[in-house]
Amino acid sequence: MAFRHVMSSELNLILLGPPGAGKGTQADRLRDDFPLAYIATGDMLREARTEGTDLGLKAQTYMEAGDLVPDELVIGIAVERIQADDARDGFLLDGFPRTVPQADALGEEMEKLGRGITAVLLVEVADDEIIKRISGRRVSKAGRTYHVDYDPPKHAGRCDVDGTQLVQREDDKPEVVTARLSKYHEATSPLIDYYEDQGLLRRFDGSRSPVEVHDHIRATLATLRLEDEL
Ligand code: AMP
Repeated sequence: MAFRHVMSSELNLILLGPPGAGKGTQADRLRDDFPLAYIATGDMLREARTEGTDLGLKAQTYMEAGDLVPDELVIGIAVERIQADDARDGFLLDGFPRTVPQADALGEEMEKLGRGITAVLLVEVADDEIIKRISGRRVSKAGRTYHVDYDPPKHAGRCDVDGTQLVQREDDKPEVVTARLSKYHEATSPLIDYYEDQGLLRRFDGSRSPVEVHDHIRATLATLRLEDEL
């Protein structure tokens, strides 16, 4: 059927997993493979905070405490973004949805638009490994990410590309990371069953190297596309 074909030729992906599982790294690689609009609500909220918009000011306190920003603030920006021109043929959501109400809202909107989620990619990593990873993470002003042990810059504390000083994101500080992880287990992990029940969930071992995780994701997506053509 022509309509089904149009719907299924889109690659609409959700990256799910705890903070620090390597979702951002996988997102970069997937964007090299496929022409996907990358939609990261965390980045959108940080931008809003930098610009000092109303949304940014409202989100700030929650973000700094490692709390989730209330659903009503996030749903609007995400749902609007998936309808932008560059997201028509496919998108990659990173950090959204993070709660069941957000997933419900996304599902309803997709249905209204006659579109569907292709797959939910769950990148799994144990809590102790995450704490090690996030506490060593440093970012440049332009948002380039390094790790003091696993991916150090050539000159300590300076970005390889623009030489700006690297800093620790406020929400990567240890006490905030612990809060973000417990939020993940409480509010976001129910989405694992939610999407499993819909037959959309695909699991990946995020403790493997970024290259291995990426290869596994690619293989899974290739299989999904083949199934789709049958
Ligand atoms: P991230 O960069 O995805 O780790 O997001 C950073 C912070 O932004 C989170 O700790 C939350 O405070 C907030 N945030 C990002 N996405 C969402 C979302 N979908 N729902 C609620 N809060 C969010």
